Amino acid sequence: MTSRRSVLQALALAPLVSSCVSGVSASARNYTPSGQAMRRVDVKNERVIRTIAGLRPFRQSGFVVKAEGMNDKIVIHNYGHGGGGITLSWGTSHLAMELAMQTQHKRCAVVGAGIVGLSTARLMQDRGWDVTIYSKALPPRTTSNVAGGQWSPTSVYDEEYLTPAFEVQFEAAMRHAFRYYQNLVSPKYGVSWISNYQISSQAPTGDSLQDKYPAMYPQLIDMNRNEHPFDADFVRHYSTMLVEPAIYLPMMLQDYYGAGGKIEIREFMDRSDVLSLEQPVIFNCTGLGSKKLFEDPELMPIKGQLSFLLPQAEVNYIVIGNGGLYMFPRHDGVLLGGTFERNEWSLTPDPVETQRIVSGHKAFFDAMDDPWS
Ligand SMILES: Cc1cc2nc3c(=O)[nH]c(=O)nc-3n(C[C@H](O)[C@H](O)[C@H](O)COP(=O)(O)OP(=O)(O)OC[C@H]3O[C@@H](n4cnc5c(N)ncnc54)[C@H](O)[C@@H]3O)c2cc1C
Repeated sequence: MTSRRSVLQALALAPLVSSCVSGVSASARNYTPSGQAMRRVDVKNERVIRTIAGLRPFRQSGFVVKAEGMNDKIVIHNYGHGGGGITLSWGTSHLAMELAMQTQHKRCAVVGAGIVGLSTARLMQDRGWDVTIYSKALPPRTTSNVAGGQWSPTSVYDEEYLTPAFEVQFEAAMRHAFRYYQNLVSPKYGVSWISNYQISSQAPTGDSLQDKYPAMYPQLIDMNRNEHPFDADFVRHYSTMLVEPAIYLPMMLQDYYGAGGKIEIREFMDRSDVLSLEQPVIFNCTGLGSKKLFEDPELMPIKGQLSFLLPQAEVNYIVIGNGGLYMFPRHDGVLLGGTFERNEWSLTPDPVETQRIVSGHKAFFDAMDDPWS
């Protein structure tokens, strides 16, 4: 873990000098460990620009990446990423790509054009394969477009269902994804590094993803009250990437077309419909669609609801865990979440939840110390 003292000592001076000059009494607690001023989110009902819901494709034992022979085809599954599909997309697609490379073929179909289908398609193109995507919908009409985009594979499996074999796949996917995304950090792809503040009602228990994989959560610091601007006793800081779907997914599509990719809009009704495709290798990247297409009884939706506030360019940190709520500042709005409703298929936002999310964030940010406001 990074030494808290060394980080704060290194950062405290420059912001303090400018704060004194402008007459504002800011201290180190008002800056992220990377030295950015922490400004309050302006939460008001009249600043809400949209409220949406999406369904996380969740399996209690985690995602499926495996190859299966079906009739004369090889089907490679890559689905069921739960609340971590943005994060893991390059990683599980890398594992799926490795399975395909064990065959003698050079031509494939990718079913699905969410983040998982697009990543799989790009990796196969990069290896010289002729790729066609088949999908009933394209971005922006996919679950991947609804995602918040924090780089952290959360809500991907239930701890009691974890097997050693899955853990190996999960860790490999996480490490690949962590490296792939770093090549894309840029305004062009909508991928950036950002400070995260995790709020808890109790001291860290040592069994979180950050404790287990600290190398993928840089600037990991358990902060005391003098080191953050929030009215909270237990605050943990770490940095992650933030992937903005509204910027990233169009870029992925553009890259795919640029590399000669073809897309056919088509809805498949069942497994035999998928197997009627002409390509010898078929990647199944249909997310929740796999429940019906490949009769997976374990796959279930976890409904998540989000409200967006008008964008606030000066807010440049994430807050999560504030009573189950989370805030991600994006160019298309300040995202306020969230809900986790298992086995809920409705895509209609619940107004009671909207109010809980907005008023919960309002109370939290009203209590924040922002000396510039
Ligand atoms: C509210 C919310 C917040 C989230 N936040 C995060 C986050 O911060 N970080 C993170 O890592 N993840 C997050 N996620 C999870 C993430 O969105 C999913 O894990 C991810 O989008 C799954 O990607 P996918 O490509 O498998 O599925 P999808 O995006 O659903 O794509 C599936 C594709 O398959 C196609 N398809 C499906 N069925 C058929 C069919 N029968 N015939 C033809 N085509 C078909 C669809 O049209 C679509 O193109 C969040 C999800 C939600 C809902």
